[in-house]
Formats: sequence, C-alpha cells, structure tokens
Amino acid sequence: MNAKWEGTSAGGDSLPPSLKPKLAKLGVHRDFDLVLHLPLRHEDETVLTPIAEARHGAPVLVEGDVVSSEVAYRPRRQLLLKVRDGSGLVFVRFLNFYPSLAKTLAEGRRVRLFGEVRPGFFGGEMVHPRFRVLRGPEPLATSLTPVYPTTAGLAQQVLRGLIDRALDHADLSDTLPEALRARLQLEPFQPAVLTLHRPPPDAAAAALEARTHPAWRRMKFDELLGQQLSMRMHYRARRREHAPPLAADGALTEALVARLPFRLTRAQARAWDEIGRDLAASHPMNRLLQGDVGSGKTVVAALACLRAVENGWQAAIMAPTEILAEQHHRKLAEWLAPLGTRVAWLSGSQTTRSRRAAIAAVASGETQVAIGTHALFQEKVEFARLGLAIVDEQHRFGVRQRLALRAKGKRSPVNGGGEQPHQLMMSATPIPRTLSMSYYADLDVSLIDELPPGRRPVVTKLVADARRDEVVRRIREACRDGRQAYWVCPLIEESEALELQTALETHARLAAELPELAVGLVHGRLPSAEKAETMAAFATGGRQLLVATTVIEVGVDVPNASLMVIEHAERFGLAQLHQLRGRVGRGADESVCILLYQNPLSDGARQRLKVIYESADGFRIAHEDMLLRGPGEYLGARQSGVPLLRFADLAHDEDLLADARAAADLMLERHPAEAARHVARWMSGRGELLGA
Ligand code: ADP
Ligand code: MG
Repeated sequence: MNAKWEGTSAGGDSLPPSLKPKLAKLGVHRDFDLVLHLPLRHEDETVLTPIAEARHGAPVLVEGDVVSSEVAYRPRRQLLLKVRDGSGLVFVRFLNFYPSLAKTLAEGRRVRLFGEVRPGFFGGEMVHPRFRVLRGPEPLATSLTPVYPTTAGLAQQVLRGLIDRALDHADLSDTLPEALRARLQLEPFQPAVLTLHRPPPDAAAAALEARTHPAWRRMKFDELLGQQLSMRMHYRARRREHAPPLAADGALTEALVARLPFRLTRAQARAWDEIGRDLAASHPMNRLLQGDVGSGKTVVAALACLRAVENGWQAAIMAPTEILAEQHHRKLAEWLAPLGTRVAWLSGSQTTRSRRAAIAAVASGETQVAIGTHALFQEKVEFARLGLAIVDEQHRFGVRQRLALRAKGKRSPVNGGGEQPHQLMMSATPIPRTLSMSYYADLDVSLIDELPPGRRPVVTKLVADARRDEVVRRIREACRDGRQAYWVCPLIEESEALELQTALETHARLAAELPELAVGLVHGRLPSAEKAETMAAFATGGRQLLVATTVIEVGVDVPNASLMVIEHAERFGLAQLHQLRGRVGRGADESVCILLYQNPLSDGARQRLKVIYESADGFRIAHEDMLLRGPGEYLGARQSGVPLLRFADLAHDEDLLADARAAADLMLERHPAEAARHVARWMSGRGELLGA
C-alpha cells in the first residue's frame, strides 16, 4: 500500500523526463496536453461526514484518531486500524501493505480517510481507503477532486499534481472569436476547462458525470473544431499541389459507355460526372466513391481509368484480395481490351517471370491500366506516367498502404516534375454520416445511392444450426434448377489454422452430402492460380456450389449465384454480413441468404442478427454497427493512424459536429490566426508550449 496523499513534488512547468513514457501512454506529450487530460469523474472531499452517518453506497470523507493499529495474520496478513471520531468508530483494513505503513498509521495519529464505508463483521469498515495523515488543522478541499484516467505506475496523485501545475501556468485564453463563441452559446475556454478540473462543491455533479455540462460541451466542441480545422487545412493544402489535368477527351470513355450491355444508372452517371470534373483539374483529386454493395462502382472506375488513358497517362487499381484483383482484371480486360487499351495485373503470388514482365510493362508505359493487390505499390514497381490511382474497398487497407500508393506517383521519374496522381477511393461499406463528416472531412464524396434496375431484394432467413439438413436440401434443389450457391464457412478469429481446417472439412462434408454437384473451395491459403481457376469456374458455371472462407467477402460478382448460406453467422460482424450477403441478389432470380446460427446467442450476436435480418440498407446497418461497437472499433484497427475523438461522441453530438464544421469554414476565412492557434492547441501541434 503506497497511497500517499502528500509530498508529490513532480514539478517545473514541463514534463518530468522520468514520467514521459508513462505520460505518452496517456497521449500527453507536452504541457498543454495535461490541460486537455480531463477527469473521468470527481470525488467530493469538500465536506467531512461523521463516521456514524456514513451510508454505504457512496464514498465519503471522514476524519478521526487512530485508536488502535495492529498487523493481523488471520485470515491473511493485513493492517487493521480502528479510527474514531466524535460520532463513532470505523474499522480500516489494508492488505498488501509495506511494513512502513504500520508506522505511518500508528496509534494516536489523526487521519482523513476517503472511501466507502461498508457493513463489516464488527460494524462499519473501510477497505483500502485513500488516506492522509494530518499534522495539524488542515482546511478541506474547496473544489471537487478530479479522478483522471491514468496508467500503471503513474499514481493519481502525481498526475493530479502535474495537471494542477499545468493549469496554473498554461495560457488558457480563448481561441474562438468572441462573437462566434457568443453566437454558439458556448462557455469561454478558461472557466470551462477549470470547471472540469476543479469543479466547485455545488457543481452539477450529474451533468459533469454524464458529460452534458456546458463545460463539457465546450470541450467537445473545441475537439471537433480542431479536427475539422486540420482536415480542412489538409484539404486546402492539397489544392496547392499539382496533378496532370485529365481533360474530357471522350474518345475511349464514350466508346465504353456505348458498348456496355447496360445503361449507367442516374447515380452512376452523376458520380462519373463529379469524378470527371475533378480529373480535369490541375490539383490531385481525392475523392471517395461510396455505393452499397452491387451498386456498380467498378464501371465508374473503368471510366476513370479510360479518362487517364485517353490523356496519355496510366491508371492503377488496387484491390484488397487476390480474388478481387483477378476479377477486376477479367472484367476490365473484357471492357477495355476491345478499345485497344492494354490492361495488366500484378499480384504477390504471380510466378517470378510473369511478375517481372508485368513490372517491366508498367515501367515502360506499355501497360496503360494496371490492376493488382497491394503488390502494385511495392518498392520495385515504378510507373512510367501514373495519372490516377484507384483503391477499391479502401476501408480494407491501412493508412500506410494508401500513403505508399500516393508516394508512388510522386517518385516515378516522369511524375518527377512534382505532379501527383489523382486518387479515387471506393468503398461499399457505407460510412455513417457523422463519421464521414468528421474522419473523412478531407475527402470529397460521391455517392451511388441507387441499385441497377431489376434487382430484387435478397430474402434473409435466420435458421438454427439444428436445421442444417433442410438447408442442404435447399441447395440441392436450387442447383438442380440451374442456380448457384455460396456456402460461407465459419469465421474463427483466434486461429487461422483452425479456420482453414474447418473450411476443408466443410467442403469434404458438403461434397459428400451433395455428390451430384460440382463443389468448389476457396480460402486464403490456396495458391493464387488455383484460387483464380476456382473463381473463374464458379463465374462461368463450372462449379455449382462454392465453399468459401471470408476471402469472398468483398467485391466478388457472380450474378447467377442466388443462394448464400453463412454458417455460424453469429460470429460475423455486421459490416461483414452485409458485404457477404451482397454477393447474391445480383441477377434476375430472387435471391436468398440463409444465416445459420448456433444457440445460445449472446446479446450482441442476437442484436447483430436482428439488424441484418430487418435491414438491407447499408447506411442503416453501418449506423447500427457504429452504435453497437463505437466509432473507434467501427473504423477498425486498419484505420489506426486516425486520431480518434476523446471527448465528443459522434452518436450523440451530431449537432455540435455540424456547428464545428460551419465554425471551421468561418475561422479559416476570417480568423486564420485563431484557427492556427486552435489546431496547435488541440491537434498536438507545436508552439503551444507553456510559458512560450
Ligand atoms: P460494386 O459497387 O459492389 O463494386 P459492381 O461494380 O461489382 O458493384 O457491379 C455489380 C454488378 O452490376 C456487376 O455485374 C455489374 O456489371 C452490374 N452493373 C453495374 N452497373 C449496372 C447498370 N447500370 N445496369 C445494370 N447492371 C449494372
Ligand atoms: Mg466492387
């Protein structure tokens, strides 16, 4: 037991070097970060409670004399005190204590204890209260005591001391122009931040705890404003960079539109129009093309590629899986080759020879459109004239991979003049509005919000695992009628090996149960040639049933497949289920998605299955997903590198976000100095050092 309530002289007005690693874990890198390290909750040490009146259920501060202090050994070693005040007696117990504690808390000492008094064997007792030995009369705290998030090895008391000092030295003046602040009815910064760290005893404790207090509102607003400002600054900086203007020539793009077996939907045409306009500009496009699964993003990407090609530049499409890259290659070759455009593909598992040839063709400029996995942007691949880089299913890539792609354009010799490629990101995972307004605020967004005509909604069924036989029968009937089906094997997050083994077993079992069908199998460990072969066979009807792991989750497009079974659907995430289900419902037949689940279901699993059963709307599903998992989880580890919001909560602070967006625009226009100061304060920028 080492809780000292006193004697913390961590000091100076900058961070003590020995504590820096610990503080860094809390996101505290400079003094002002301490100011922004806000309490989780508060404890009331402003009043003394007579021992006899302490009710259990809430922590209290009591003061009294140690009337006995002894080390007991039964039932285990512990320091046992009796503390008495004018009203009564309380037993105090410390387990795992240093021997010196018995001396510190010897009989005759006067102490203050903070903690909960619980009914114990002998009467009221406190276990491990915070304590302070009094050397004379001491005033009580005049404000509530903050409790900060901390980390192992950094005592609350030490952190409190550091923050107190930072608050005394920091420049807490406002970064919001006064008129704007008044109009938004926000508290000034200084009183707001001081209220949170040192609330007066009569502060609205419930509002503080629920973070609805006006002081919290101000902090959340400032955080959102910081994020919006820095995103806008990025956005503006990009407009000062150079990219090849890809003019609307039309020779190839119009030829493709004329040759397609379908007409573009209105939404596709609008997205293509927006992209075309961006491409014609002399600064790099940075656009996100969002459209639910099956909305037809690929053809828009193909048009963008052709726009680059007709202007004499290369285009590249990066896909997250080999299966998808291979499928894009097939599709684009089918569309573009007849127009005389040379398409090539590149993946990590190609034979060395064909890979070398592909790299050479990209470098010489012979290849006009290159398609591949992230192998496309590895060191050895140099583009002759990369004018456009497209990332499909962008949410599946890490920030680092996307940056590598951008850097690629910068480094290639012909782009050496400082021109960057235009960038188009595509995503079928709809991003909830609040997230796209915040984390993606530096992007332009095009939306394909309609499906191609003639699609029939997928019928979703929830079926308990016990009825698996019926499901197998159903597959037999569907395939007998000339349809095709997917069987998605259970996700086993803990073990890839086990997942693979399960896939092999599932395949063997289904092949035995359905001897009259041609049953294929794809999984991540299959050599890519074999993977490609199986997928091609499935696409052309040579396999009727495809047993697959989640490698088919994104992008796979086989319109004749109209039945999907997902085994152990309760293990999958919402976005995954939505994506998987999106593999069917692409043709003219009515499609069915059967979610096999195993009882008993956890609450979370039940909720997910309910959402996916009730809704086919990607935006609603994404929104529910964010609510269930929280935005951090929702954005996923793949997006790490994006600083997450600490205080604002996008599910509940949408109004603040809208205000912050508007305020960011206004400040950049009219108050650039304040804007810069605000970003420095909130985005861990430099130049906001205390005293400086
Ligand atoms: P996603 O947006 O999920 O990537 P795809 O680009 O794979 O969707 O398109 C899904 C299917 O719809 C493909 O078979 C594609 O050829 C077809 N498709 C795309 N646009 C249209 C359209 N305007 N009319 C009819 N079918 C279309
Ligand atoms: Mg796609």
